[in-house]
Amino acid sequence: MGIIEEVLTIELPVGENFRIQRCRYAPKKGKSTKRISVVSGIHGDELEGQYVCFLLGEWLRKNPETIRGTIDIYPAINSLGLDSITRTIPFYDVDLNRIFPGSKEDFLPAQIAHGVLNVMRGSEYAIDIHSSNVYLREIPQVRIAKSQEKTLVPLANLLNIDFVWVHDAVTVLESTFAHAMNTIGTKTLVVEMGVGMRLGQTDGEQLLMGLLNLMRHEGILDIPSFEVRFPMQSDEGEVAYLNASCPGLFVPAIEHCQTVKKGDVVGHIVNALSGQRMDEVLAPIGGMLFTLRAYPIVYEGSLLGRIFGEKE
Ligand SMILES: [Zn+2]
Repeated sequence: MGIIEEVLTIELPVGENFRIQRCRYAPKKGKSTKRISVVSGIHGDELEGQYVCFLLGEWLRKNPETIRGTIDIYPAINSLGLDSITRTIPFYDVDLNRIFPGSKEDFLPAQIAHGVLNVMRGSEYAIDIHSSNVYLREIPQVRIAKSQEKTLVPLANLLNIDFVWVHDAVTVLESTFAHAMNTIGTKTLVVEMGVGMRLGQTDGEQLLMGLLNLMRHEGILDIPSFEVRFPMQSDEGEVAYLNASCPGLFVPAIEHCQTVKKGDVVGHIVNALSGQRMDEVLAPIGGMLFTLRAYPIVYEGSLLGRIFGEKE
């Protein structure tokens, strides 16, 4: 049985507290091998990770004798945001994933970031589970900054996901939880899957198997090995972006996660008032439609989808 602890408490102006809780699972006997932090809810409108945390907790409760390391589950980092389904930290309107490493002497969001790092410091691994936003649906994937490629890609390949996307270093990534954790020596993977404010059961179950496989491989769980899928690698192909050419209502013509050929119709942008199809959205390359817009209202330039095409 896991132990539930309140690991961060910050006083709010009117007698309330901001709090972060975790559930810790440790070996019944003997020393813990390694520590992993499973983290979700940095964005308060992303719920897929909540379900993964539940599935993992349920599995560990049924299989306590397999635990060799310390497994910490943090389902709700931006707890204020999750309570109100707000992406940012309510009242401050600050994206928590843009202010790491934070500071104890600064405003509340920075204090939260600082506190989170302190609590998780010393973990060998962290898995930071995101679920895109309310606009875009994603296949289960791990995103890695180019500078971390060597260390993190082998770990990501264990996670039973569909795609490993290595990004060029961008300044904004330096203010994320994952970058801060990797800087202090915790190997941290960012998972993106599903869509904001929703819960996809099959994605959750897929990632659960990946987490169990990673923990088995790293000696945190003593379980027999099993087959997992091997993800597509971004360096073995190219990513093409589909953007709206005009405002309107985006109506997809195909489902998410399908293979398309160059020139296939991905969807239409339609005008509800005039009854016209304003634009036909065509696939610029052939490949896997790994991102698809879930929120129908679009403006000129809005992202409609992304296709990953593997090199022949
Ligand atoms: Zn997120």
